[in-house]
Amino acid sequence: MNNVIEGYTRCVQLINAEYQTLVNLSNDELRSELSCIEHHIRYSDDKNKAINEYLVKVYAIVKETARRFSEGNIVVTANPYDRLLATSYDFVEIQCDKAIYKNRWDVGGVPFVWNMVHYDEQLLGGILLHYGYAIEMATGEGKTLVATLPVFLNALTHNGVHLMTVNDYLSKRDFETTCPIYMFHGLSADCIEYYSRNDERMKRAYKADISFGTTSTFTFDYLWDHIAIRPEECVQQSHNFAIIDELDSILIDNADHPHIIGGANYYDIGRVYQENFPIVKELIEQGEGVLYSRDKLSCSAKFTDKGKAWLADKTEIPDLYNVERLYEIEDFDKMSTDAQNSVREKLDLQNVLLRLLLALVIFERDVDYIVSDDSVKILDQNTGRVKESSRWRHGLHTAIEIKENLKAKNDFDAMAVISLSNYFRLYDKIAGMSGTIMPVEDELLELYGLRCTSIPTHKLVIRKDEPLRIFKTSKDRDYAILDSIIENHSKGRPVLVGSKSVKRSEEICCLLDEYGLKYNKLNAKTIKDEAMLVAKAGEGDTITASTSVAGRGTDIKPSQQAIDNGGLMIIGTELFESVRVDRQLKGRSGRQGNPGSSVFFASLEDDILLNLDVEDLESLKECASRYSDSEISYDDIRCYFDKAQSNRELYFKTHRKATAYKDNIIAPQRRKFYQQRNSVLFNSDVAEHIIDEIVKEKHIDKRSIDPNLRELYSKTNELILRSRITNPNRKIICVPFSDNMCPFAIFFDVELAKMGYTYFCKEFKRQIILQVYDQEWKKLILYMMGDLDAREIEMLDDRYLKMIDEIHTIILNRLQNATMPFEVRDNHHICEDGSIDKDEKLPRERMHRTEKMRVESNAMCPCGSGKQFCECHGNSIRRSNERVRRR
Ligand code: ADP
Ligand code: MG
Repeated sequence: MNNVIEGYTRCVQLINAEYQTLVNLSNDELRSELSCIEHHIRYSDDKNKAINEYLVKVYAIVKETARRFSEGNIVVTANPYDRLLATSYDFVEIQCDKAIYKNRWDVGGVPFVWNMVHYDEQLLGGILLHYGYAIEMATGEGKTLVATLPVFLNALTHNGVHLMTVNDYLSKRDFETTCPIYMFHGLSADCIEYYSRNDERMKRAYKADISFGTTSTFTFDYLWDHIAIRPEECVQQSHNFAIIDELDSILIDNADHPHIIGGANYYDIGRVYQENFPIVKELIEQGEGVLYSRDKLSCSAKFTDKGKAWLADKTEIPDLYNVERLYEIEDFDKMSTDAQNSVREKLDLQNVLLRLLLALVIFERDVDYIVSDDSVKILDQNTGRVKESSRWRHGLHTAIEIKENLKAKNDFDAMAVISLSNYFRLYDKIAGMSGTIMPVEDELLELYGLRCTSIPTHKLVIRKDEPLRIFKTSKDRDYAILDSIIENHSKGRPVLVGSKSVKRSEEICCLLDEYGLKYNKLNAKTIKDEAMLVAKAGEGDTITASTSVAGRGTDIKPSQQAIDNGGLMIIGTELFESVRVDRQLKGRSGRQGNPGSSVFFASLEDDILLNLDVEDLESLKECASRYSDSEISYDDIRCYFDKAQSNRELYFKTHRKATAYKDNIIAPQRRKFYQQRNSVLFNSDVAEHIIDEIVKEKHIDKRSIDPNLRELYSKTNELILRSRITNPNRKIICVPFSDNMCPFAIFFDVELAKMGYTYFCKEFKRQIILQVYDQEWKKLILYMMGDLDAREIEMLDDRYLKMIDEIHTIILNRLQNATMPFEVRDNHHICEDGSIDKDEKLPRERMHRTEKMRVESNAMCPCGSGKQFCECHGNSIRRSNERVRRR
C-alpha cells in the first residue's frame, strides 16, 4: 500500500463509522440530514472548504442511500421536486403524499436493478477523486459507483460538476444508472448527449448540478460558445470540477487531436482534386521510393525531388515547387497582389497533390475510415467509433472522397480550435479514473498536473492472462485464433474476439463464416445495437467479434453458466498500439473476482514490427530462423514485440508533446482573445468602447460614420417590414450586408429593430466586431493547423499581433463602407403596420445584386421568403455565376 492510500484509509474508517449511525434514520430523516448539510454549504463563505469538512458525512449518506436502494423501493414524503421528477422519470411514483423511489429502472433500454453498496476500495477511490487524483482501478471494480461520491459532494456547491467519458453510450449509461441517487436528495442531473445545441434542454442540462457527457461534446460546446453571435446561444455555464472516466484514453490517446470547429467559408474544391487525381495515381504506379516515399508509422508520405520535377512537368507548371514555404520569400507582404496570389495558388496545388498522395498510399478503408451513406466517415482509432460530422483537414477528406469515387462534400475552414490540455486548464479542479493510469503517470503529471495513484482490487483478480502467441505467418496465426475460438466456444464459454480495425475484424468474421460458426459483430457499423450486443456477450455460447468499441468501459457480465465454464475468454487478434489498450481489452474479463482468461496472437508479418529499427528487425529474423515450427512463442521472440510496442508508445508520446507545445503558444492569446470576445458578446457597450479606441487609433472623425449607419438603418427597417408581410410572427431577421470586400450578415430582433436606431447601431457594431474577430481568428487558426515547421511555429506570436492590427482596419472599413447588396424598391409605399399598398409581392427578377457583392449562402434571404439565401435568390445568382465561370 502506498503512502497516499495509507493516509486516506483512516478517512474510509470514519465514513463507515458514520454510515453505521445512519441505519436507524427514517427515509425522510436521511433526506433532511443531507439538506441541512446542503444548506450549510450553500451559505458558507468558502464552499470548497465546507465540502471538505462534510466529506465523511456526505459519503456516508451516499453509501446509505445506495444501501436503501439495494434493498427495495424507498418511500418518502413527496416534495415538489419529487412530483416534478415523477412527470419525467419512471423510477419515481407519487401516491397521495408519498413519493416512491423504485430500485429498478431501464438503462439503455435494458431493465436494471440497483444492487450496489460502496466497498471500502470504492470509498477510497471516491476520496482521492475529490482531492483531484487520477486513480487507477481495475476494470469491473465499479468506477461508475466510485464517481457517485465526489460527484455528489461537489454538486452540493451548485457550481456544476461535469462527468465526462469517451463515448455517448457510456455517458448515457452512467447517467441512467446513477441519476436516482442524486435526484433522491434533490440534486439535478442530466446528460448533454441527449440534446443538440439549439435545444433549450441542452442549456438546462448544463445548468444542472451534475452534467454527464462526452469530453468531445463538452469541448466542442466550449468552442461553439466562443463563436456565438448572441448571448443566448451559449450553453456552457462554468468550469468548476471535471471528473474524467477512461482518463488515459481522453487525456493521453486523444491528446493528439485538437478539437476543431469548421464553418464560415465553404469551398467547393472537389474539382481540383478530381482533375489531379489521375496524375497522382500515375505517379504512384511508378513504385514507392522513386517519385514518392512514405512512412507508415508516422502516417506521412512525400514526393521525392524527382517526383516534384515529374509533377511540375505533368501539371505544366515548371516552377511549381520553387517555393514551398512562404517565409522563403523575403518581403512577401510587399509583393503585388497578383504575385502573392500566384505563389499561393502553387502552394495550394502542392497541398492538393500531397493530400491525394496521402489518400492513396496511407489512408485505408475500414482501418482509418468507413464508407457509409455515400460519405467517408472517420474512425476514431481509440474507441473504434465513427467520428460523426468530423472531416480531415487541409483537403485530405476531399482527396479520400475522390479516391472512393464519391461526390466531394464542401470543405470548410477551421473557426475555433483547442487542445484537450488547454480545455481542461479552464477547470478549477479535475480528477479521473481508468483501469490503466500508472503507465502514463509521468505524462499526466507533466501535461495536466495530475497526481496518480493505484487502488487495490476489492477481490483478487483470478483472470489468467496467457502469454503472447507468435506465429511465423499471419495465415498460421489466424488459424490458431480460429482453433482457440472453437476450443473455448465448445466449452460453453463466451468469447470476445478483439481486433484493431474493422478490416481485421471482418477478416476474422470471414474465417468464422467459413467454419459455420455463429457470432455477433460489434463495430462502428453495428453500434446502434451496442447495448443489446454487450448484454449478450456474456452468455455461454456467444462469440462476439469486436473492434476497440468493446475495449473500454463496456461491462460484460458473464452468466452463471458462463462463470461455471471458466468465464469470459478474450482473444486479441493482434497487439494494439500500446500495452494500455491491450490491458483494456483483457480487463473485459475477470471482473470482480470472476474467472476468465485472455490470450493475444501475433505474427512476424504484423505491422507493429515496423516500429523496430533495422538492427532489431535483423536479429528478430535471425532468432526466428532458429525455430522450425510455425508457432514460435518463445521469450527471446516476445521481447521484440515488447520493444516494438514500446517504441510505438514513445513515438506517440513525442507527438503529443509537440502538439501540446504548439497549442501552448497560442493558449495565452486565446484566453485574452476569448475574454475580449465574451465581453463584447454579453455587453454591447464594450463594442462601442472598442470602436472608440479604434477610431482614436486611426484618427477618424467618428461623426463621419454616422450617416452611413443611418442609411443602413432605414433600409434594414424596410426589409424588416417587408419580411413581416410574409411572416407576421417572425422574431429575428438576418440582414445581409457587404463592405465591398466581404459579405456579412447581421441578425436583428424584429421588435427591437422597429423601435429605434440605437438598438440597430448597438447590434450592428456588436455583431460586426464578433464576426471580424472570428474571421481573423480563423485565419490564424488555419495557419496554426498547417504542417508548420519550427520557424513557422516561432512566428506564431508575430502572426497574432498582425491579426489584431487587421481586425481594427476591417472593423472600421465595415462601419464606413457597409451597404446592403440589394436594391430595396422604393416605388411602393409600405405602411407603418407593415402592409404594402396593392397586392405587392417582391418579384424575384427585380432583386438585383450590386456589383461584386455576395451574401453568405446560409443566411436568410432578405426577400422575406424565410428560405436560406442559397435556396432562394442566391440560387439564381449562383447559377448565373456558374454560367459565367463555365464560359
Ligand atoms: P469499471 O468502470 O470499473 O470497469 P463498472 O462501473 O462498469 O466498472 O462496474 C462493473 C460492474 O460492477 C457493474 O455491473 C456494477 O453493477 C458492478 N458493481 C460495481 N460496484 C459494485 C458494488 N459495490 N456492489 C455490487 N456490484 C458492483
Ligand atoms: Mg467504467
